[in-house]
Amino acid sequence: MSSQQGSVEAADHGKQWSIVIHGGAGSDSEKWNKEMKSAREKGMSRALTAGKKMLQDGSPALDVVEAVIKILEDDAAFNAGRGSVLNQEGAAELDASIMNGKNLQCGAVAGVTNVKNPIALARQVMVKTPHVLLVSEGAESFAKDIGMEIVKPDYFLSWHDPRVMESTEISIEEKNDSFHYGTVGCAVLDQHGNLAAGTSTGGTSKKLKGRVGDSPIIGAGTYADNRFAAVSGTGIGEEYIRRAAAYDVIAQMRYASKTLDAAVDEMITRQLPDRSGGLIAVGHDGRIVMQHNTPSMTVGAATSEGRFEIRFNTFSEDRR
Ligand code: ASP
Repeated sequence: MSSQQGSVEAADHGKQWSIVIHGGAGSDSEKWNKEMKSAREKGMSRALTAGKKMLQDGSPALDVVEAVIKILEDDAAFNAGRGSVLNQEGAAELDASIMNGKNLQCGAVAGVTNVKNPIALARQVMVKTPHVLLVSEGAESFAKDIGMEIVKPDYFLSWHDPRVMESTEISIEEKNDSFHYGTVGCAVLDQHGNLAAGTSTGGTSKKLKGRVGDSPIIGAGTYADNRFAAVSGTGIGEEYIRRAAAYDVIAQMRYASKTLDAAVDEMITRQLPDRSGGLIAVGHDGRIVMQHNTPSMTVGAATSEGRFEIRFNTFSEDRR
């Protein structure tokens, strides 16, 4: 097995592939109105269908993660990209990261206010710079220099998207709370045996200006290593950063020979505080694990074996 600098060769997996996505964990989906549920379900289904198609066609894991997350970022029903929650000053500050399990290359951006697709920018940081993480104005001027799509900050004030916001029964406050944990993430095993993961978010609502959560922190919100798993988290970012949650799952597999299921379970049930969030992961063998300690987590999973499902929680029959 090669070192961190080298390429972690993919095992022979035939044509097997797996994809798992999340649309955030937190508020109780039972309390959402019909429009909100249906907007989320449709968004997840659109993203999962696109990912499935790409994987069937043999696309690389990294391309799939970026494309799937872009779809969710463009959808105001999620707290990422267009539908991002706002900070205390009423502005959206976006964070995202992406990681390639083949060679441990990764890229991330934090605190960007005018980039339409932070996940695409994170990938460009990975491929076009020697760095891993660019923040705020620096990330924005890099985005401009390389010709990424720039939007006016009010693009992110999407609360009136008709698909979600038609209901008059729910106050902006409640909507903000419901979207509080609408972060999106994706973990993939492609047909070539390569793993990748990514996460994108508007962060936590009413956060202090400049606050950065776990989503753009490699090892906290996102991690991928072909030898073990690809992981994306969602929840109270500070708790994930404190525990290096995404990498801890890998470390448990690496140093304690734990299974992916056991490693995720340890993090969700024993390490992270109750009701703080969830994790999705794909193992090098294609196994999908989704677990949360919150009332709900919006998830979707699809495999080359015919699985295709969207759920608002993973309680009971949550493993394939
Ligand atoms: N983890 C994200 C953050 O703390 C929020 C979320 O997942 O809902 O920024």
